[in-house]
Amino acid sequence: MKIAQVEVFVLKTALDQPFAFSQGWVHQRAATLVRITSDEGVVGWGEAFAQGLEPPEIAAAAIEHALKPLLIGENPLDTAVLWQRMYAATRDYGRKGSVVSAISAVDIALWDLSGHFYNQPVHQLLGGAIRDVIQPYATGFYRISGQKESARLAEEALQHREAGFTAMKVKLGFGIEDDIEVMAAIAKALNDDTIELMVDTNHAYGRSDALRLGQALDQYQLRWYEEPVVPEDITGYAELRGKLNTPIAGGENEHTPYGFSQLLQAGGIDIAQPDIGSCGGITAARDIVAIAQANGAAVNPHVWGTAVAQAASLQLIAALPIPHASLFAKEPILEYDRSSHPFRQHLITEPWNMVDHVIPIPQGPGLGIEVRMDTVEKYKAN
Ligand code: CA
Repeated sequence: MKIAQVEVFVLKTALDQPFAFSQGWVHQRAATLVRITSDEGVVGWGEAFAQGLEPPEIAAAAIEHALKPLLIGENPLDTAVLWQRMYAATRDYGRKGSVVSAISAVDIALWDLSGHFYNQPVHQLLGGAIRDVIQPYATGFYRISGQKESARLAEEALQHREAGFTAMKVKLGFGIEDDIEVMAAIAKALNDDTIELMVDTNHAYGRSDALRLGQALDQYQLRWYEEPVVPEDITGYAELRGKLNTPIAGGENEHTPYGFSQLLQAGGIDIAQPDIGSCGGITAARDIVAIAQANGAAVNPHVWGTAVAQAASLQLIAALPIPHASLFAKEPILEYDRSSHPFRQHLITEPWNMVDHVIPIPQGPGLGIEVRMDTVEKYKAN
């Protein structure tokens, strides 16, 4: 079997209501999707992570110009061989960011294709499922004006609980005093110690402010404190981790086993958060999981893309080991972005349904989803 076609689809749509995280205002939702088709007609889909400020055309160009020529005519079941070839060919200008996201999209598509070929879900190809359902957590609390939104954000917390979420992650990084006010308002409104809270500043602060915020939030028994400092500041990560009680999480802006190895060996994080659409795909994520486990850290994938990226995350999470096994060990949880996204779930024929606070892992071949071409055509920008 040979790879016959590699097609890239850039999807974009403007948002009616722009929203902010600490790094800027998000005006559109976008995705870089790739469809790989073999000469036998077996198809696989993948997605490159495009964060809110990232033009999806960068990864699309990398796939089209740098990776596609390496793939046509090759055996699509050679996932590890092709990963090494793509990485080596782009090493001198890639290694981090959108080029690795492009490799990730291709790699996810090759695993999806392999799953269809073997008629097995990706988690089976990874060695089998440790779990068949997963608890999602709500990622939300984005801002629509900026600061002084604690009353609205407290109301939002109640809406997530009403929708069935038992864990939620609050976007902070809008000024220490504002952050503290927001957390106090949310904790007071929920008044519920069965709801787990996490925070994410998207690396808004330097070490001392990040520490000051972390100390103020230690009282909330957070499940984790995400991206406290910039991803380059590995020493800062390790310092904060030594000084705070709250577990430190990070990794959505880290890439490949090489990058994660440095962060983990420095003792920077308790929880590694590779995004399957940017860490190097399923092939890289599998190695990152092993490195995390060897360094005593848990893995909880980051995901902010469409249902294609969510499906890749679900498949990996199904097979994710718990590094500190015990009778009542914490299970990994699925990041579920609750911010506005007009085509996130419309891209697949069977959108997820949360039942009794959990989502079932898709059991169909490959990623376990069917992509709707009518939705692709509707939002296609290239
Ligand atoms: Ca984040």
